[in-house]
This record gives sequence, structure tokens and C-alpha cells, in this order.
Amino acid sequence: MIKSLLETQTENSLNLDTGVYILLVALFAVFCIVATVFLILGIKRDRNRIIAEKFKIRQLDRLGFEEMIKHKYDIARDDTHFTVMLLRIDGYENLKSSLGERQAIKIRQQIKDRLVRVIPHGSKICDYDEDSIAMFIEEHMDNKGITTLAGFAITECNKTITLLTRAKLVVNVNIGIVSNNEFSPDAVNMLQNLEIALSNARRGGLNKFSIYSEELAEMQTEEYKHYQEIKEAISGHQFTLYYQPIYDISANKIAGFESLVRWNHPTLGVLSPDKFLPIMEQTGDIDWIGSWAFDALLERETKYFKDHPTEQDVVFSMNLSPKQLMYPHLAEEFRKIYKKYRIPARNICMEIVEFAVFDKVPEVSSNILKLQQMGFKIAIDDFGLEMSSLKMLEDLKFDWVKLDRKFIEQSQDDFLINGVVETLVGFAAQKGFAIVAEGVEDEVVRDYIKELKIGYGQGYFYGKPLPPEEYKI
Ligand code: C2E
Ligand code: CA
Ligand code: CA
Repeated sequence: MIKSLLETQTENSLNLDTGVYILLVALFAVFCIVATVFLILGIKRDRNRIIAEKFKIRQLDRLGFEEMIKHKYDIARDDTHFTVMLLRIDGYENLKSSLGERQAIKIRQQIKDRLVRVIPHGSKICDYDEDSIAMFIEEHMDNKGITTLAGFAITECNKTITLLTRAKLVVNVNIGIVSNNEFSPDAVNMLQNLEIALSNARRGGLNKFSIYSEELAEMQTEEYKHYQEIKEAISGHQFTLYYQPIYDISANKIAGFESLVRWNHPTLGVLSPDKFLPIMEQTGDIDWIGSWAFDALLERETKYFKDHPTEQDVVFSMNLSPKQLMYPHLAEEFRKIYKKYRIPARNICMEIVEFAVFDKVPEVSSNILKLQQMGFKIAIDDFGLEMSSLKMLEDLKFDWVKLDRKFIEQSQDDFLINGVVETLVGFAAQKGFAIVAEGVEDEVVRDYIKELKIGYGQGYFYGKPLPPEEYKI
């Protein structure tokens, strides 16, 4: 009896212990879950606070950012160090027009969010320009630190972005970097140097950065002046198109016009493209000029066809540089512009230098193909500088081959080159493309190309590049 009582007691106490034990474990588990939730919420809140802190001056525009830099210089002591980075999104203008403003703003916001992840705590970030984001980093960083940070920033920006349409996009950027050292003694200098560094980064290619140095300043003062002037020229509508006739030799009449861009500089007069296109290629404004020139050409062409109803075969051509053709959305951008007009695509020709056609860079080839699919004519420009070019023509589809002036000049004295031109003329007849001899300056050259049975000529002999009114365009 005693034994059984004892057994029952032991059993009961065992049952009781197990119950308490289970209760304790359960309580502990609940405690752990609650603590974890609080911890996560806390971390999240803290992260949001950090982000909010970093974004404190997000609402600041460029002016506000510049004022802040001025203030930082005013209160700076000898041991105060800060660095400013200016990041520019490549081809933002085109991104905006091809994807729409809403999508472009979203993309810029995503880039900004990504930058927040890599810049040090307490840094400031703001919209500097439509296509650029400025970052203010208030801590001492040596060149190694800056290099690492810039590398991280570029890597983040290059990560794929998914668009609203689920399409994927990779954004390219450049960064200019300046610290408050002896080369940038005040805010005005710092901000100027920032643009110089950025421009230098762009010269290096996509996704490159450049840290401002004195050598850079010496090298680029002149270019910076141009850079500022080009920005003013764009907003001041100082660019214009000249036109040069392309002559049909056997029909004895104008077959088309090549448009050639000019800058009506307020003090230097009319400038040729070699004075500004290379700079625009570096600053990224070449994308702008491409869209502008295409629009201006189509507007002029529309007027021409209205004024000359019997000249409906005349072709208007424009030049596209390899850099322009590298822009992945070029064809879409052109499609949008073209849709505004009612001109048959066969009356429009895109002139592309031969090496850009032959090199087969994927973006370039894809743009050329799309332009061709839209029905535009394609001209291989400046043909002949490479003797191997002839072979390259075999598997390409195009409409015109424009023989470079120097090539024509050489072929007059050089038996071998003359032979190449003769072969090319035969090949053109076979494949159905037209040949245009460039730089026909006098009757001697005219007679020479006529003898060779080259179909078309262009040059001062037929007419110089002039404002459209001069040719009643
Ligand atoms: P290009 O496409 O080879 O254009 C022909 C160039 O030869 C033009 O120079 C023209 O003025 C010049 N020229 C025409 N006939 C003669 C002649 O009989 N003798 C001589 N010596 N020269 C002649 P321009 O206008 O200075 O243009 C230079 C280059 O700039 C063009 O070479 C073209 O590659 C580029 N370019 C012009 N406009 C544009 C544009 O809107 N976009 C792009 N991407 N490039 C352009
Ligand atoms: Ca050309
Ligand atoms: Ca040419």
C-alpha cells in the first residue's frame, strides 16, 4: 500500500515536473520568437533610420547641394576631410525618351537606392542633375579607399534592373571624384573639378571613374570650357544642319543630300564637326545630337517633298558615329522620331563608317539591323582606307558605298588601287549597291570617276555643304 502510494506520488510529481517543463520550454520558445521579431523590427527600423539619415538631403536640388558644400568649406578645420562623387547615368536622355519619363525616374531611384547601400554611414546623396547623382562623403579616405568605394558603386549600378514591363536593363555610369585637398581649395573649385573629373572618366569609356588631380586640371581646362559651351549651345539652339548634294552622274541630276552638322558658335562662327563631335562623344551629348539631327533632317525632308512634288526619289542622309551606334536604344529612339513624320523610309539613308560596320560589335550590329528592318538605306562611309574592305563587303547588305576622298585621289596615281576600284564597280553592279565617290573637287576627278563608271559623285565640284535654303531644300 505504502509502496503503491509512493509510486502514485512519484508518478504525480513526475507528471507535474513534465508539465512545468513543457510550459517553461513553450514560454522560452515564445520569448525567443518575440525577441527575434523585436530584433528584426529593431534592425529594420535602424536600417530605415540609417537610410533616412543618408537620404536627409534627398529633396535638395543641385543648388542646395552646392550650398551645403560651401557651408562645409566655411566650417572646415585643417583636419576636416570630405569627398564628393558625381555619378552620371550614361544616355539618360535616350532612356527617358525610349522608356518614358516615369520609368526613367524609377531607374534613377533604383540607382540611388543601390548607392545608399555602399556609401559610408552619414554620407549624403542628392539629385544633382536629371542624369546625375551627387554623393557627399564626410570622412577621410585615401586614394585606395576612394577607388574601392567607386568600384563598389559602379558594380552596384551595373546590376540588372527589371523594368515595369519585366524587360531587363543594364545601366552604365561614370563617376568623377574630388576631395577637399590643395587642388580644390574652395567650393567653386571643387564643383568645377568635379565636372572635369567626370568628363575624364567618360573619356575612359563606360563604367570608369576618375579622381581629380592637378595634371587633370592642366589637361582639361580648355576642354571644360568647351564642355560648358556645348551645354549652352544645346539649350541655345546653336546647332544646325548643312546639306551637300549627292549627284547622279549619268542622270545628270541631284540624287540626294547628305546632312552635315554645324555649330553656329556665338564668337567663333560656324564650326565643323571635328571641333565639337569628339568632345560630345566624351560628354555623352553625342546621343542627344543624333536624335536632334534625325528630327531636324526629317522636318527638312518633309518640307522638301512638299515643295518639290516631282522629286520624290531624293534621298536625305545622315551620319551615325560608332559611339552613337553603341547606344542600345538608338533604333527604338529613331523609330519614335520617325513615327512623327510621313516620309518613306527608302528616302532616308544612314551613313556609317566602314570599320563600325565591319567590326561587328553586338550593339552596333543590332542597331544597324533594326535600322535596316525599318527600311532605311545604309551607306558604308569612308570606304577604302582599309584594303581588306572589299572582302568584307561580300556578306553584308547595304545600299551605298561611299569612297573616301583620299582613296579616289590615290587610285588616280596607283595602278593597284585603281584596280581595286574597278573590281568594286563590277561587284556593285553584281550585288546591286550604288557607289558614291566623295571629295570630287574638279572636272579632272569628275571625268576620272565617270570613266570608271562610278554612279554618283559628291564634292565641292557639285556643291559645298551649305545651309538648306541655298539648295532650296
Ligand atoms: P563625312 O561623312 O565623310 O563627310 C564628308 C566631309 O567631307 C564633310 O566634312 C564635307 O564638308 C567634306 N567635303 C565634302 N566635299 C568635299 C570636297 O570636295 N573636298 C574636301 N576636301 N572635303 C569635302 P565635314 O562637314 O567637316 O564633316 C566631317 C565629318 O564629320 C563627316 O565626314 C562625318 O563623319 C562627321 N559628321 C558630320 N555631320 C555629322 C553628324 O550629324 N553626326 C555624326 N555622327 N557625324 C557627323
Ligand atoms: Ca558621311
Ligand atoms: Ca565620308
